[in-house]
Amino acid sequence: SGQVWHGRSGQDGGKAQDSGECPFGQVSGFSRRAETGMVRLFAHCNRRTLMSLHGDYDDQNIFAKIIRGEAPCYTLYEDDDVLAFLDVFPQSFGHSLVIPKKAAARNLLEIDTDSLAKVMAVVQRLTRVLVEELQPAGVQVAQFNGAPAGQTVFHIHMHVIPRFAGESLGIHASAKADPAELEQLQARLRARLAD
Ligand code: 5GP
Repeated sequence: SGQVWHGRSGQDGGKAQDSGECPFGQVSGFSRRAETGMVRLFAHCNRRTLMSLHGDYDDQNIFAKIIRGEAPCYTLYEDDDVLAFLDVFPQSFGHSLVIPKKAAARNLLEIDTDSLAKVMAVVQRLTRVLVEELQPAGVQVAQFNGAPAGQTVFHIHMHVIPRFAGESLGIHASAKADPAELEQLQARLRARLAD
């Protein structure tokens, strides 16, 4: 159990180190660079927001990296076509994600119906397991298309979010869960999925 690497073994993403020196004494040069950077960033964000429903599939997105084994995840279920894992920024206890492994699809518009059907079969199975194990009062199944609709990762995924009476939904993709808690939850759900 625990967070594991899928596909080929653990390549670290090799986070780029910031080698820039402290810019004291070169304030004007630094501000100019910062300003140019900000303008570029805004232009990039704007383009991303506007194009997010129709752009090209970016194989560097985090879920593509998880599928290839370049980033870890708390796997709940996996077969040749589908991967289910815990959301690391859960909006409720048990918040899980289900993704196609073979379809390079950003959203519902792009995925082929065969892959979608396989994903939905796992969504249903996982929903049943979450209900049996965690006894929520409800379950929300959600999927977002395009940044204005709330999509932040551009590889299609279904959210399965258990809802507990009296508990409001956490803020989307905000607080990272405690790894020990995720690991414990993963073990409980995997045991039930294996039945
Ligand atoms: P979206 O906003 O695109 O519908 O949802 C993306 C989801 O992916 C969010 O709920 C966010 O918490 C989750 N997420 C983002 N990065 C990671 C990650 O590295 N690992 C996992 N397991 N979930 C992630």
